[in-house]
Amino acid sequence: MALSPARLDRFARHIVIPEVGGAGQAALAEKHVVIVGLGGIGSPALQYLAGAGIRRLTLVDDGDVELSNLQRQTIYTSRDIGHGKAVAARRWLANFDDALEVSLSDERIARDNAAGVIAGADLVLDGTDTFATRLAVSDACVAAAVPLLSAAVGRFQGQVGAFRGHLPGEPCYRCFVGDAFDAEDCDTCADDGMLGAMAGWVGTFAALHAVKVLLDGISSLGEPQWGRVNLMDGLAPALRSFAIAKDPACKACAIA
Ligand SMILES: [Zn+2]
Repeated sequence: MALSPARLDRFARHIVIPEVGGAGQAALAEKHVVIVGLGGIGSPALQYLAGAGIRRLTLVDDGDVELSNLQRQTIYTSRDIGHGKAVAARRWLANFDDALEVSLSDERIARDNAAGVIAGADLVLDGTDTFATRLAVSDACVAAAVPLLSAAVGRFQGQVGAFRGHLPGEPCYRCFVGDAFDAEDCDTCADDGMLGAMAGWVGTFAALHAVKVLLDGISSLGEPQWGRVNLMDGLAPALRSFAIAKDPACKACAIA
């Protein structure tokens, strides 16, 4: 679909990049991304994905905005406190670009509803902070053959990796973390503390990576690094990546 003159103007700085170009921008304008978790990672990721002109965004979060969120969850302001995050995020999007299509889910995403929430997505970006949720989202992605971009942060450490475990020989997120975390027992930033800008780095890195995934095979923006995890150290600072092997016994993807 051709972009209107106003859209061409809006995305002019993308379109002049050879690695995106008009074809890449037009492709982004047809994509549907599900963002699970509208917190410290999801907030900046949402801002840059909306800025990139992703046509349809599904916003998933069952929480309410709290005062202590504002230190890192960049789409919310003081007046959003007490409001649902998904609703507040939709309000931010409507102000930012009313041409984008937005769907909402303010139920807690879990094993029984994950498939419905991610249906039809080109990519799921998971920035939630509990392993049980992250594994439920990953398993649903494998079952639906939807690529998953998994992003996590704790204090000064971040992780971002793209997975398509539905393909033979490719790992899923469960291959990476194993089965030990299906119970709701992981550390959260409430216990650990988190530097706001660190969450921002991980969220914007995830958004950059998401655009690479969405343009994989369309333009030459760079490798999605399927099955690799980027490990981000905010203190040094440093960045390195390592490959995840497909677990031949993985409960989610081994038979795929
Ligand atoms: Zn797996």
